[in-house]
Amino acid sequence: MKTCMYLRKSRAEDLSDSTGDTLRRHRETLEETARAMQLTICGVYEEVVSGEDLYARPEMLRLLRDVKDGVCEAVLCMDIDRLGRGTMSQQGVILETFKEAGVRIITPQKTYDLRDEMDEDYTELQTFFARKELKLIKKRMRRGVERTAADGGYLANAPYGYEKTRAGRLPTLKIREDEAAYVRQMFLSYANGEGTPAIAAFLNACGAHPRRSEAFTRGAVMNILRNPVYTGTVIWNRRRFLRSGGQSPGCRKIENNREQWVVTHGKHPAIVTQELFDRVQARMRARSKPSGTGRELVNPFAGLIRCANCGGLMQLRPRANRPGGYLLCERAGCCPSCDFSDAADTLRNALRPLLRRIPIQPAAPDPCDQKREYLLLKAEKRLRTQEGRLCTLLESGIYSPALYEERRRILLAQREKLSEQLCRLPAAPDNPQRTKDFTAEDALDGASPAEENRLWRLLVRSILCRSERGPDGHHVSFEIQLRCSPDV
Ligand SMILES: [Zn+2]
Repeated sequence: MKTCMYLRKSRAEDLSDSTGDTLRRHRETLEETARAMQLTICGVYEEVVSGEDLYARPEMLRLLRDVKDGVCEAVLCMDIDRLGRGTMSQQGVILETFKEAGVRIITPQKTYDLRDEMDEDYTELQTFFARKELKLIKKRMRRGVERTAADGGYLANAPYGYEKTRAGRLPTLKIREDEAAYVRQMFLSYANGEGTPAIAAFLNACGAHPRRSEAFTRGAVMNILRNPVYTGTVIWNRRRFLRSGGQSPGCRKIENNREQWVVTHGKHPAIVTQELFDRVQARMRARSKPSGTGRELVNPFAGLIRCANCGGLMQLRPRANRPGGYLLCERAGCCPSCDFSDAADTLRNALRPLLRRIPIQPAAPDPCDQKREYLLLKAEKRLRTQEGRLCTLLESGIYSPALYEERRRILLAQREKLSEQLCRLPAAPDNPQRTKDFTAEDALDGASPAEENRLWRLLVRSILCRSERGPDGHHVSFEIQLRCSPDV
């Protein structure tokens, strides 16, 4: 059988070995095989390859041309790995050329006849190449990701506030100013003591949308506040994905230990300063509670309500499988427990008139509030434009009355949210329409339980709770002892 011999050594392999040695050894093995199988060698193709590209392998190209021209009936090589390297399509070219010319591939171990589609060997060959290619792709990708992160590039989807761009060949991020303004506001507000639900409400009133959902939730705000990408940092290897077996489809995200994170200085610009980011993280740590099973109940009257019976502090306890909670004296069997939200309402109503009598000096305009106002006014302007356009769309017949009504409802809901947020802005001297006399009661609006607690502690020394079960039912009454009279 007329046979061509193909010898190839990659530059990468056998670094200890000189090129000549490897090729000589391979040649001896192949010549032995040829003798044993009584093959007639009609040509030798020998090359040292540095890349994996077929077009960087001139001898392979010459071999393919000769195979096509019917120079030989078989090609002898060390293993199929030597023959097929490069991309899948290039391996396809090699396989197709051999198959069409009816040329066999002979290795010292095995002979492949590619003409027979049903040939198991052919299938085996294909899967071999496919597997090889897949492994190669994975390896290249991992290396690519590592290299990109080490160079400060950013590969994942652009987080809120950024969009994808390239710095030369390096994928990275650039700032989307419309979103970045909200990101800055989120960090500022949180650092100034606002809670994530209030921040989410503010963003939604401004008409800001997160990337993959309709409205901002406290969780979405929290994720942004936690993401170091906003300080210009790139973190790689933060999570790993586990392919979940069994019924549940998809992957499970698992957070790696911090020691495993690869943190580099990113090529992208920061949206917030490291100092602000650190302040936000510190406040988050201070607020997070060590025990964390489900929803945490926070008592705005914590440390203030005492049992009238025994004088011990009463605790807020969650109800099993139900929202809300109840107040309980720590001493077992001391007094019946009472519903917490009823108690809180009673106490707030009793204390509100006092708060109303405490005037609050308007503070100097807070830069955080000024930015907030700017964003809200911009959102209002946008909304006005949308409302104007809506009428035009109806009049020009582009919108049906039904569609118009639907769109109008959405805009009205947005306007409502917006006005609510605008009302919460502190009165500024240049906004005479919102000037009103502020009292301590205004501080109660939108306050988190912790903030409310601070307010009550300033005002109240203690609250005695008398909870009794009489023959005509359960009676709860409170006796509030103030620190000082607000008139003083
Ligand atoms: Zn008690």
